[in-house]
Amino acid sequence: MTREYPFERMRNIGVIAHIDAGKTTTTERILFYTGKTYKMGSVDDGTTVTDWMDQERERGITIVSAAITTEWKDYQINLIDTPGHIDFTAEVQRSLRVLDGGVVVFDGVQGVEPQSETVWRQADRYNVPRICFVNKLDRMGASYSYSIQTIREKLGANPLQMQIQIGKEADFKGVIDLLNMKAIFWKDEMGSEPVVEEIPADMLEDAKEQRAVLVERIAELDDNLVVKFLEGEEITVPELKAAIRHAVLTNTATPVFCGSSLKNKGVQLLLDAVIDYLPSPAEVPPVKGTDPHTEKEIVRNNSLDEPLCALIFKIVSDPYAGRMAYFRVYSGKLEQGVMAYNSSNQKKERVGRLIRVYADHREDLAEIGAGDIGAVLGLKNASTGDTICSAHDPIVLERIAFPEPVIFVA
Ligand code: GDP
Repeated sequence: MTREYPFERMRNIGVIAHIDAGKTTTTERILFYTGKTYKMGSVDDGTTVTDWMDQERERGITIVSAAITTEWKDYQINLIDTPGHIDFTAEVQRSLRVLDGGVVVFDGVQGVEPQSETVWRQADRYNVPRICFVNKLDRMGASYSYSIQTIREKLGANPLQMQIQIGKEADFKGVIDLLNMKAIFWKDEMGSEPVVEEIPADMLEDAKEQRAVLVERIAELDDNLVVKFLEGEEITVPELKAAIRHAVLTNTATPVFCGSSLKNKGVQLLLDAVIDYLPSPAEVPPVKGTDPHTEKEIVRNNSLDEPLCALIFKIVSDPYAGRMAYFRVYSGKLEQGVMAYNSSNQKKERVGRLIRVYADHREDLAEIGAGDIGAVLGLKNASTGDTICSAHDPIVLERIAFPEPVIFVA
């Protein structure tokens, strides 16, 4: 059954990382914990859900950028697959354009690597609000605090350390949640729920100190909170969360979480953070485009009442469904069976089946509205980057200027 979510309960997100940081594994865990994957896939045996194409399986990299809808704690999450391989910069840029927020995954041994800088700068360019996940903390030499230091020094970002890791490397077993001052432990097995406990006595002093640092850094982000802080008043957890949320939206700070997606640790808390800190489609700025007749700028709000404006961000040739055009609706709604206008090629085309793609099944929908993401079948002439709109109220969204393709000579 399809459930319709109000805007504030929708998240359009992508997991952003360069190759090998653990993007595929983290995505798989997200799909597992959000309950939409029948069977756990593994990158190493080539059975992952997001790696749809054989070519990807063979090469072990994610080339196809598609979107999968899932749910977490009564929120709809549209997970947009962003490729991390350097060959596919244009793909990354296209997908970054349609998401409202990103989870940036780092390898906890390396911290920020040159390629992490590349994906970070791309996200900067599209003003993508970000939360960070320091992955692979089970590996030898992995360090959450070192990785945070590199996020500050190499990316020039303002990272907020939200947790303390409990146990190192093979002994990594949980985290202290500094906002709520709780210890959270996981078993190694898939599907194990986190166990919430009091903070171990030998870590309590450190946790108090780190929390004080975190509260001060959050207070500095907000004029009202800084006054409260200086006057020694208590700042509540909802107030702290609201300040972080605002900082993420304005790219003035980024909260950093940690875990090991391979060992099934930390992903549920990361999902909570997606809901807590990444914006809904209603919170991001309205989309801007041009009137193709007058060349004047048009602004379209994230509203079902405005005329249709949607962007095709990926076309996938599906072995079963044929040509599937993935799109993001910015305003109005796309309805099955209607004639839609492609303002990029100035052609009208009938909208075929509208599909919502889940990890394990697909659903036909009569319409897909503002803020949401889906796929359409039957648009023969459409290309990636095209705008679909109402013929009466045409709009062309900015075309993305792609850099020259990089050609590697062996
Ligand atoms: P991607 O290229 O960013 O999609 O990264 P993958 O998810 O394919 O992971 C790259 C490699 O790192 C694979 O062999 C994974 O099994 C491994 N890996 C991913 N996450 C973790 C982790 O948390 N701990 C450890 N030890 N290995 C991991």
